[in-house]
Amino acid sequence: MLFHAFLIKYAEIAIKGKNRYLFEDALVKQIGLALSSVEGEFSVVKERGRIYVYCPEEYDFDETVEALKRVFGIVAICPVVIYEDRGLEQTARDVVEYMKARYPDYRGTFKVYTRRARKTYPVPSMEVSAELGGSILDAFPGASVDVHEPELTISVEIRDRIYVYSDTIPGPGGMPVGTNGRAMLLLSGGIDSPVAGYMIAKRGVKIEAVYFHAPPYTSERAKQKVVDLAAIIARYCGPIRLHVVNFTDIQLYIYDQCPHEELTIIMRRYMMRIAEHFAVKDGCLGLVTGESIGQVASQTLQSLAATNEVCGLPVYRPVIGFDKQEIVERAHRIGTFDTSVLPYEDCCTIFVAKHPVTKPNLKVIRRSEEKLAEKIDQLMEEALKTTEVIVVGE
Ligand code: ATP
Ligand code: MG
Repeated sequence: MLFHAFLIKYAEIAIKGKNRYLFEDALVKQIGLALSSVEGEFSVVKERGRIYVYCPEEYDFDETVEALKRVFGIVAICPVVIYEDRGLEQTARDVVEYMKARYPDYRGTFKVYTRRARKTYPVPSMEVSAELGGSILDAFPGASVDVHEPELTISVEIRDRIYVYSDTIPGPGGMPVGTNGRAMLLLSGGIDSPVAGYMIAKRGVKIEAVYFHAPPYTSERAKQKVVDLAAIIARYCGPIRLHVVNFTDIQLYIYDQCPHEELTIIMRRYMMRIAEHFAVKDGCLGLVTGESIGQVASQTLQSLAATNEVCGLPVYRPVIGFDKQEIVERAHRIGTFDTSVLPYEDCCTIFVAKHPVTKPNLKVIRRSEEKLAEKIDQLMEEALKTTEVIVVGE
């Protein structure tokens, strides 16, 4: 069946007053961006509290739906067939044709729900529904009307033309990217941080990312894996500015100067400091990590407190309460899992101690960091200066 348009339903955007149009405009923009990768000229139109995507004469239905399913803020996608308005009798014939094409031999319960966006239409909505329902009953002897719990609802919208739809394809929910500020994601090649980034972006936050690279201990392929992960997330949230920080010298220096059981914590504190530098520079309002309580030694509440201590910006950890399995399921759903499990080493695993502290004492950690006084400022400056910014997903 050829659908001429999609009705885009959005719930949370029924947000109060003046913000509503900001939301709708952001959603229209994100839909346009998502569809720019699909062949054909689509037009995205905001019409009296609704958003429609009008399709070109030829387009790939599945590809279009897939693209729309990645746009945060969309609750449901309804494929629409549009008929000219040639009077109610003709509309009744059109709706019967729609039913025959879409549900041949329909035998279940149904109702027709009519909405008059064009108030000058001469027949009231209820009468239109009754008339159309009658025609469907005539054409489908096995079908019956149930206005309370129908198995099928045929929606008819009377606009300049007559819009008919009955399918509801679920969208991702959330809020349109760009409506809730910007945050900096610490993106490793693991399973958790891509999911964390997705979850923050789903709430309307534009994300940027930083990856700590430690050549030659971490390979070009490990870096490429992170670029690939950023590209997968970018399919949902738009282009990501990925900062690739050369972290080797800082790591080696910490390794030389500090007790090995504190390595991970101290390293993470430097990661946070550097991430915050770029976050502030790019107008981000928070940092985002893929940490989950208790998952590893560096993710106890004490360890999280120790990493937080060095940040002025809030640190958001959207998967904090998830078990690994729950994160894995989400990674599968958003399409990052297969890339995340590619076996390229990450810098944390190489410099990891056999028995890392799980309850770091802040005073002790600070004292250990004092051992870095001689060179750390210069190494930090060097790391910031040599950071490569890759725009992923444009
Ligand atoms: P992930 O699966 O996201 O790598 P993880 O369970 O391996 O997480 P850690 O290695 O302790 O956990 O890292 C915790 C968080 O710190 C990560 O989720 C990520 O946000 C950040 N992080 C760790 N390593 C890096 C890195 N090399 N570059 C950027 N961020 C990193
Ligand atoms: Mg990791």
